[in-house]
Amino acid sequence: MPPEMSRFYVTTPIYYVNDVPHIGHAYTTVAGDVLARWRRLHGDDVHYLTGTDEHGLKVQRAAEARGLAPQQLVDETAAAFRSTWDALDITYDDFIRTSEPRHHAAVQQFLQAVYDAGDIELRRYEGLYCVACEAYYTDDELAPGGECPIHLRPVERMSEENYFFRLSRYEERLLAHYEANPDAVRPETRRNEVLGFIRGGLRDFSMSRRSISWGVPLPWDPEHVAYVWFDALFNYCSAVGYGADPERFAHWWPVDYHLVGKDILRFHAVYWPAMLMSAGLEPPTCVFAHGWLLVGGEKMSKTRLNQIAPADLVADFGVDGFRYHFMADQRFGPDGDFSYEAMAARYNADLANNFGNCASRVLNMGVSYCAGTVPDVRADGPLVDAAAAAYAGCAEAMNRLDFAGATTAVWDLLRATNAYIEDRQPWALSKQGEAVAAAEVLGDCLEALRITALLASPVIPNAAAELWRRLGLPGRPEDARLPEAAAWGGLPAGAPLEKGAALFPRWEGA
Ligand SMILES: [Zn+2]
Repeated sequence: MPPEMSRFYVTTPIYYVNDVPHIGHAYTTVAGDVLARWRRLHGDDVHYLTGTDEHGLKVQRAAEARGLAPQQLVDETAAAFRSTWDALDITYDDFIRTSEPRHHAAVQQFLQAVYDAGDIELRRYEGLYCVACEAYYTDDELAPGGECPIHLRPVERMSEENYFFRLSRYEERLLAHYEANPDAVRPETRRNEVLGFIRGGLRDFSMSRRSISWGVPLPWDPEHVAYVWFDALFNYCSAVGYGADPERFAHWWPVDYHLVGKDILRFHAVYWPAMLMSAGLEPPTCVFAHGWLLVGGEKMSKTRLNQIAPADLVADFGVDGFRYHFMADQRFGPDGDFSYEAMAARYNADLANNFGNCASRVLNMGVSYCAGTVPDVRADGPLVDAAAAAYAGCAEAMNRLDFAGATTAVWDLLRATNAYIEDRQPWALSKQGEAVAAAEVLGDCLEALRITALLASPVIPNAAAELWRRLGLPGRPEDARLPEAAAWGGLPAGAPLEKGAALFPRWEGA
């Protein structure tokens, strides 16, 4: 994504309301938030969308089991996702729910467009169906024991009259699209997976259900509701005004990034672009598929009871500690394994030590040796190059959605600052009566901290804002504009410095 592009639209998947929010959901949602905050820091016009997928058989059955109307059930569960994101300081611009009237109206217009294009046909279908996936599988797609490849549970033989989307018509167009847009699926391994799947031949798929009432009825045959995926994927368009506000829709579409887990890559990179093409809409600019967050080497699932609620980790490590861990601990692409011990170790090393200790040492010395105010920051201090490298490295990594690389680039500046303090020993300079030299060194370090707070703010917004304040800077890091604000020399002399409690108290164990 070229950095000069000013309109930026990024989405998470909409999460299924039959799930409870766990760290897998949070992983994608924090990543989207970091990206959105990073682009806003550059003055971009950002739209960050998340939401909940509320239709389908599982929701209908769960509501019946509790004696509730489906709408009552989804109102409860959507609220749980919303409050989880609020607790993690997720700055979404919109939260779409597929049970909302704005979504229904848009989906119906979209369905009609695809139907009018001749891409929807009524057929009898018989096949092997996974209720949990709400999807049919062919024999060769099943796990070796004949089970659903995602859930590893038995599939049911089902027969029903359904409308079909004629995906097979889109093989050539999808291949041409991916040929012309090599970055439309990332990372590269996922792109190859998608190309392989398309080249293997695309089958038409069933896009309606008669057995369900909880969904969006087909406009030309209201006894059928749209298959949950057909309905859910369209949230990305319905949320930005498709059908209701053409000008707004034209402003935001096509999306810059759909962030998705690798298990829903096929829906996003094969079905979805074909559906859009059918309706005369542009495919997404980039579908970025990240790996699974494994716990003890296994995918989190309700049945394995290995789901971890974000609130449990926030209680121990704070919101910033939570956000930092998932961005810094592993590359956003391959699978990663979560462990509590690794989280505690990284928290102590990177946040309590590198970030927190560096900040408190420099602020304490500033208060002691510079009369509590920011000294002049010299233009040619020895940390100038490290600061420039921090922004350049962070920007380059963020453009690749390499959040771990971006945090490493910023933390390299902290490491350089800590090494510089050890080398120059401002406390010794002060003792030797070299007040000017001590103030020069501390001026360099305080300015490095300003740049660190700014660049780290998308990941650790609260600690960054507090450090900003203690440096005597007005407002919050979010008010600054990159790249200008990352240039050396932005810390005004004379501002009051403030010591304070540890930004990241050391984690000593439960
Ligand atoms: Zn399944």
